[in-house]
Parts: sequence; C-alpha cells; structure tokens
Amino acid sequence: MNQSTFCPIPWLFQAVRNNGDIRICCQANVTENQGVIRHSDGTPFNASKDNLQDARNADLMKSVRKNMLQNRWSSECGRCKQEEESGLNSRRQYEQQNWPRFTLDKAKAQTEEDGSINSTLMPVNYYDLRFGNMCNLACRMCGPTDSHTWYEQWIDYHNTDGYNDTHGRVTLKRNEKGRLFTNDYDWHGGEVFWDSIESNIPNIQHVYMAGGEPMMIARHYEFLQKCIDSGYAKKIIIEYNTNMTNLPERVLEMWKKFKQVRVGASIDGFGPIVEYQRWPLKWNQAYKNLKKLDEVCKQNWNIFAWLACTVTVYNVFHIPEFMFWKLKESNFKKINSSRKRPIITHHVAHGPKRTNIKLLPLDVKNDLVLHYNDWKEKLQFDNEISQDVKDNANKILDSITNFANSEDYSDNYLQEFINWTKYLDKTRKQSILDVVPQYDKLFV
Ligand code: SF4
Repeated sequence: MNQSTFCPIPWLFQAVRNNGDIRICCQANVTENQGVIRHSDGTPFNASKDNLQDARNADLMKSVRKNMLQNRWSSECGRCKQEEESGLNSRRQYEQQNWPRFTLDKAKAQTEEDGSINSTLMPVNYYDLRFGNMCNLACRMCGPTDSHTWYEQWIDYHNTDGYNDTHGRVTLKRNEKGRLFTNDYDWHGGEVFWDSIESNIPNIQHVYMAGGEPMMIARHYEFLQKCIDSGYAKKIIIEYNTNMTNLPERVLEMWKKFKQVRVGASIDGFGPIVEYQRWPLKWNQAYKNLKKLDEVCKQNWNIFAWLACTVTVYNVFHIPEFMFWKLKESNFKKINSSRKRPIITHHVAHGPKRTNIKLLPLDVKNDLVLHYNDWKEKLQFDNEISQDVKDNANKILDSITNFANSEDYSDNYLQEFINWTKYLDKTRKQSILDVVPQYDKLFV
C-alpha cells in the first residue's frame, strides 16, 4: 500500500452532488465548502450549466493535486487522513487498489507545475453521479439534501421553511396537494450535462451512483440505457449504494449488459435496528430483496454485492451481532462472500456530527469496548468460524472503537444527538431504548 497522500481521484474522477454541484469526491466533505469546486466569484460549478471538463482545472482541483504530488494532505482530504490514522480503510486506499496502473509517477508526469492537467489527453474515466434527492427513506444520518422524505420533519424540528445546501438557500414550498417540494434538485434535465457525459461515454470505465435512491430515479435508467445504446456498456463497471427497498426486474435486465455491476446494499443491521436507523424501511421487504440480490449474484458472474454498513451512534452496539447474523443466519452465498470482502463492509458516519460515535461520553465508550470484548470472546470459542474470519471481525471492531476514542465530541454534540433523537422518536413512534438499551442513562 502506498503510504503517501497520493490518490487517483483528482485526476481520473468527477463527482456531481444531488443538487448538480461538482465536487472533488464524496469523502471530501469535512470542510465548510464540502469539497465543492467553485468559480473565482465563489459560485459552484454546476452540471446543469457548466461544462464538466472546465471544472477539472478549477483552483481547488489544482491545489489538491499539487498537495498530493508534494505528499501533503489537503484539508478537503481530512476524512481519509483521519480514517487511515484510526486504522480504518480510507477511500483513498480503496481507489489506489481500484486504479493500480495510475501511479504517483504517472500523475507527476501528466501534471503541470500549477496542478493543472490536459483534460482532453486525460479524460474522466470514473464518475459519481447523483440524480437528485428523490428517496423513500429518511435515514437518521441523512438529511434533506439527500432525501426529499426528510422535508417535513426537518422544517418542523428547525421551525423554518428550508435549509442550506452548497448552492445556497433551499426554500421549500407546498404544492396543490399540500406536499413540500423544491425544484433545486432537478438539474439533470439540462443539455449541457447530457452532451458532456454522452460525448465521454467511450472513456468511462466506472460509474458510481447513490442517493437519492437510484432505483427510484428515472434519469438513472436513462443513463444506463444511453451506455447500452452506445455499445460501451460492456466496458463499464457500474457501482451503487441502494437502500434495498426496490430491486426492479427492469434494472436486473439492464445490468446483464454491463462489464460488471457492484451493489453496496445500504443495510446497517438486521431487524428493528435497521428499521430504526433507516425509517420507514421494513426489514422483511429489505431482507427479501437482499436474498433476491444474492440469487442474482449467483446467476450472473458480472454482479457482486456487499453490505455497506454505516456505523452511527444508533447501531454501534449492534455491529458484532450483525456480523454474527451475517455469518450464521443470513444464508447469503454471495453477498460479502469473496475473499476480498470482509464480513460486512463498514464505514463510520463522520457527519452529521450528531450521529458520529465520537460524541458518546467516556463511560459509554468504555461500555462499548467491554461489549465488543464479550463478542470477541464468543467468536473466539466458535469452532465453525475460521481464524481468518475471526481476525477480520476483530479488526472491524477495533477500528470502530479506535475511531470512537480518537476524539471527544461529547461537549459539542451529545445534547444535539439527544434532542434530535427524542424529536424523531416522538414523530416516528419509535424508541431508542428499544434498540439501544445501553443508552438508558442518556435518555432518562
Ligand atoms: S484522498 Fe480521500 S478525500 Fe481526498 S480525493 Fe482521495 S478519496 Fe477524496
């Protein structure tokens, strides 16, 4: 593993947020600017009106590349830095494995002194495309920029008429049926975007799509069809995060035409815990779709899937049990089954900070370590589980407790977590103590 700060993303990749704003990558969201690429007057490059190519040599992209070539961390890449320091795998490391031929030496040879690149000679090979914020869930670690299902509860809790996104203030209005709406996420109808992306289809090797919920979004199917019609689908890997509430036959047929399909199933636990974290998901429906997906993977050599588990204050005590369930009860034959994939594919929620496990008070963090130790012992004495898998489970649990203990957010965010949780529990008719009884002292 290359231990420098180098990452292939600023050279090969382009990311479009749910509102059309172009950003470095989804990990680069720890600064106030959330990694968004801006014109010199401060307005974001937006895929609805700006040429995607022009954004590649904007000031922020040049400075991130320059820093990497000089082995310095940009503040935008702070999340990868933190993850690596806590022993977690960062996206930077993941992308280095995904693009082994794009080395630091190659990047140096193709980059000018000011950090710019020739965007014609070096076209984008890899996109992250988010076609709006339509989603049927309002997960506790998410918000209205990613899911329109959040609108009512968000404005009710904040007693306001909208919220801020990277392009500015979003003001929600009511339609004739009384439902809140905004057009701010309808950027993806524009010719500028489609001209730009269609002309680059021959160079695309990989596309990642995530929430909103891609399976619900018409543009997602439109994009897949364009790749198929162009004749290049067989050269393209598509990758998703999907919430598993829908797995339409239509998409399964389309997937067969692609070089490879990688499905990150956004499932953070089983039963009541995932219903709590990803309201209003129904576990029976999600599990049925997971089993269907597992079968699809068995029947199609080009389709792979894994459990993309977001670790938050809500499910952190559940993670060992979730891993046991995956190993002993899920009956999955393909999901997280390859040697390359761990038992679950976890990542910790950095934001919103009110869901970050660093906010737990020290005594609760100590309880977490003891809880994990109990499960490690249980695992150790299980003769049906191989040592490799046990080592893998221990590594996952250690990375989570290391992350939790690496900083203390309790002064600034514990109360916000409690207030939000109480509000959502009341509105959603749920109770945190039903799913995390370990928080009994926090929710008296
Ligand atoms: S180092 Fe991390 S945050 Fe920075 S560009 Fe790479 S993946 Fe994104």
